[in-house]
Amino acid sequence: MLSLPSFFSKFFKKKNRAKPTTMINLILFGPPGSGKGTQATKLVEKYNLLHISTGDLFRSEIGNKTPLGLEAKSYMDKGALVPDEVTIGMLKKKVHENPDVKGYIFDGFPRTTPQAEALDMMLMIDGQEITSLLALEVDDEEIVKRLLNRAKTSGRSDDADEDIIRNRLKVYKENTAIVAGHYQTKDKTHTINGVGSIDEVFGRLTEVVDRALVMS
Ligand code: AMP
Repeated sequence: MLSLPSFFSKFFKKKNRAKPTTMINLILFGPPGSGKGTQATKLVEKYNLLHISTGDLFRSEIGNKTPLGLEAKSYMDKGALVPDEVTIGMLKKKVHENPDVKGYIFDGFPRTTPQAEALDMMLMIDGQEITSLLALEVDDEEIVKRLLNRAKTSGRSDDADEDIIRNRLKVYKENTAIVAGHYQTKDKTHTINGVGSIDEVFGRLTEVVDRALVMS
C-alpha cells in the first residue's frame, strides 16, 4: 500500500500532466465599468485564451430562465454579489467544460476572498496557477458616467440606475478590492491606469502580460 505522501505525489504528478505548464491565466480586475469586458475581448485575441465572465454566465442563465438564473437575478438587480457557493460552482463547471485551452481570462471573478481561494485550489489541482491579476483603475465619477452611457446600448437595468451603480461600487470597495491584496502577497497584482483610449489601455495591459510571460 502507498504511504500518504507518495499517494499525494502520484496524484499531483498525474494531474500535472493533464495540462501544459505554459498556461496563461489572467484575472482582469477592477470596478464595474472599468473596461474589463472590452479589454478581455482584445486579450483573448492576442493570447488565444478562453474568456470567462461570471456576469455574462449569470446573464445567460437569466436569459434561459434557469433556477440558477432566477436566484442570481435577485442579487444582480440590487447590485449585490451572488452567494459564493453558487458563483464558484458555476465557474468550476465552465472551466471543466473547457479543459483544452491555452489559458483563461477571468473577468468579474474572483470577487471575494473565498472565491480567490477556490480558484487557486482548482488551478493547483491541475498543476496550474494565476499568472497575473491586472487591476484597472478608474475613478468613481468616471465609472458612473460610463455605466449610465453603457445602459443606452447594453439594456442592463443594473447600469441604468445611479443608486444601483453606486451600490456596486460600494460592494467592490468593501468585498472585492481585497482580492487584489490576496494576489499582491504572491507578487502577481499589477495596477493599470484604465483611463485613456481602448488601445492605450490595451498597450499598458499587454506590456505587463508580456513581462510576466518572460519571467515565468
Ligand atoms: P458584471 O457583469 O461583472 O458587472 O456582474 C454583474 C453582476 O453579476 C454583479 O453586480 C453581481 O451581482 C453578479 N456577479 C458577477 N460576477 C460575480 C461574482 N464573481 N461573485 C458574485 N456575484 C457576481
